[in-house]
Amino acid sequence: MQMSPPGINLMEVRHVNKHSVVRALHEQGAMTKQEISRTLNLSLATVVTLIKELTEEGIVEQGELLASTGGRKPVVYQIVGNAKLSLGVALTGHHIRIALVNWKHEVIEKYREKITYSNSETYWRHVYQEVMKVLKKERITSRNFVGLNFVIDGNIIPDAGYEDIIPVGIFDGLDVSVIKDMYLCPVYFCNSVKAAAYSNVGKLSSRNTCVYIQFDRTVGGAVIANGTFWGLSNRTGEFGHMYFGENNKKCQCGNYGCLQTYCSSDVIREESGMELEDFFREIEQGNKKLMSVWNSYKKNVIQAVYNLRVIFDINVMIGGEMAPYLKRWEEELKEILRILDIYQEQKDYLQFSNGGEFDGAIGAALMVLQKEDEDDIEFIK
Ligand SMILES: [Zn+2]
Repeated sequence: MQMSPPGINLMEVRHVNKHSVVRALHEQGAMTKQEISRTLNLSLATVVTLIKELTEEGIVEQGELLASTGGRKPVVYQIVGNAKLSLGVALTGHHIRIALVNWKHEVIEKYREKITYSNSETYWRHVYQEVMKVLKKERITSRNFVGLNFVIDGNIIPDAGYEDIIPVGIFDGLDVSVIKDMYLCPVYFCNSVKAAAYSNVGKLSSRNTCVYIQFDRTVGGAVIANGTFWGLSNRTGEFGHMYFGENNKKCQCGNYGCLQTYCSSDVIREESGMELEDFFREIEQGNKKLMSVWNSYKKNVIQAVYNLRVIFDINVMIGGEMAPYLKRWEEELKEILRILDIYQEQKDYLQFSNGGEFDGAIGAALMVLQKEDEDDIEFIK
């Protein structure tokens, strides 16, 4: 049995041990009862009882049988992914994107709707109905639903939690407390680019280290080091506002020549007069005029990625709505990056986020799950 501080009774010890088992399975993946016993320094009899209780509560389940060299196959136990679920709801000027994610970081449902944002009761009521629709469709109950996180343009408050942001841009003046009051579950609001980057922090058992750069309507990112963001105040990675050249295009930050004015997905929209899907259909059909737009866009992306590689010397991950399109040219991009590489190493450091345009919604949902786990950890302390 684990050491217990004086004054803690047996019931509490049992509760703490139970949390430790859940935490170990979540952080380290599936384990046998013997492995749990060794890892947590608990007696096998205690582990057997706790696993039985957690299984009955629907938090832990038997995993796949391991290959055995002979005799009985060892039985492993793992957390039930759907024991905890959360929603990320990304709002932009023209879209709502919703992602339902479970405890195992599996994306259960993605949903997108084209709708113009307005800070009106009608709009927020509509969002509420869409959220309820997803929860109902997936039969989510208050028992396994841990909360929802809205993704908007907002300034991060230094040293505050991710749930504290000041709405800016089209969301300027939004009273988030009014929206929170509409829901019975915990509701948060987070910064869009940081949420997108968060979609790639990796599972607890395999935390990620990379530079994430989002090529979307806005360009930005974060430096992810072992699953957490670098920086003094969660604000590293404003790559979109690095000075990139003299194009005399005013950026939303007020300066001219920012990377965002070269690599935003809106550059494609403005220069082609088309939506992305239509643009890439034309490219695939060999439209020469549009090909020059695409080639110059691609060149700028390569330079941005190359610069990040030179600065950070870690993998660079492309995310956002341009990610699935850029991925179609993956080999070409990697080849050019290999030629440019100052270290002359034949190393592939370029990666692509799977979420694409849903990166923000997925990351926001993961933030809520992470917060829930941290609260559990607080309890154990
Ligand atoms: Zn800027």
